[in-house]
Amino acid sequence: MFTPDLLKNKRILITGGGTGLGKGMARRFLELGAQVHICGRREDVLEQTAAELSPHGRIHAIPCDVRNLDAVEAMIDSIWREGPLDVLVNNAAGNFIARTEELSPGGWNSVIGIVLMGTLNCTMACGRRWLAAKQPGIVLSISATYAPVGSAYVVPSAVSKAGVEALTRSLAVEWGDRGIRMNAIAPGPIPTQGAFSRVLPRPELETLALERNPLRRFGTVEELANLAAFLVSDGSGYINGEVIRMDGGEFLQGAGEFSSLGRILKEEDWQALKPKKAASPKS
Ligand code: NAP
Repeated sequence: MFTPDLLKNKRILITGGGTGLGKGMARRFLELGAQVHICGRREDVLEQTAAELSPHGRIHAIPCDVRNLDAVEAMIDSIWREGPLDVLVNNAAGNFIARTEELSPGGWNSVIGIVLMGTLNCTMACGRRWLAAKQPGIVLSISATYAPVGSAYVVPSAVSKAGVEALTRSLAVEWGDRGIRMNAIAPGPIPTQGAFSRVLPRPELETLALERNPLRRFGTVEELANLAAFLVSDGSGYINGEVIRMDGGEFLQGAGEFSSLGRILKEEDWQALKPKKAASPKS
């Protein structure tokens, strides 16, 4: 399905598009014919990414802090002056591990500001313009697998991503009849400098994450970008209000009561645990 013109003429904004998964999506969308805008706070990072990806297609870098509503409105205005966006990808985020009782108000504000308020700011800025012009639009947000159940030690992120998923499902219904599709991806661990340096900062934590994944490997940026390309393409036009988990089965491994037995029990244990055959009745 990934024909080179899959996203031809689509105008896409990726927040946090200068690094990691955002950069990977930008590359894939360009390869599939889209025109891509990337934003983030660090102008030098954005410019470097735009220069690196420009051989693949038209890419524009816009410095913008998504926490700042005025800055978001100014960015969206500047994009709309050239023509409306077709797709918004809410990807920008911040996260770190901490014991919750030790979080400062600044720590809470920082993560909630980027992940929840940043997503709201960008979604409302695009949504209002699409609705006013009676134009279709697509919003894809990058969530996390712990959003529906919560997670210890990343609570500001869990709270924020849960809000992002609620926004996705709510607006999928409220705006669906006016041509706006809302979906999200919940990725499992995918090595990026940004995420791994903050949430898996030690080799033993990486090993733990690998061991608890049924596929015994991390996801790749390319796999995430392929799923994102599908979800923002017209081929997925009837998918609305969904959060697609992409984690190699890690979430289910954690949920299944007996799932970890396979890692603990050895061959001899399984042999010893086999149900004893009932003695056959004597004839
Ligand atoms: P990343 O490379 O650190 O990406 C985060 C991006 O967000 C950066 O480009 C950063 O650029 C931008 N950003 C941060 N604060 C911003 C702000 N206030 N305004 C605008 N941009 C801002 O990490 P990643 O792994 O690619 O993460 C991308 C997304 O995937 C995030 O939503 C993350 O929660 C999600 N995710 C990742 C994983 C994983 O294993 N990689 C797993 C689950 C979910 P600046 O610092 O220059 O602003």
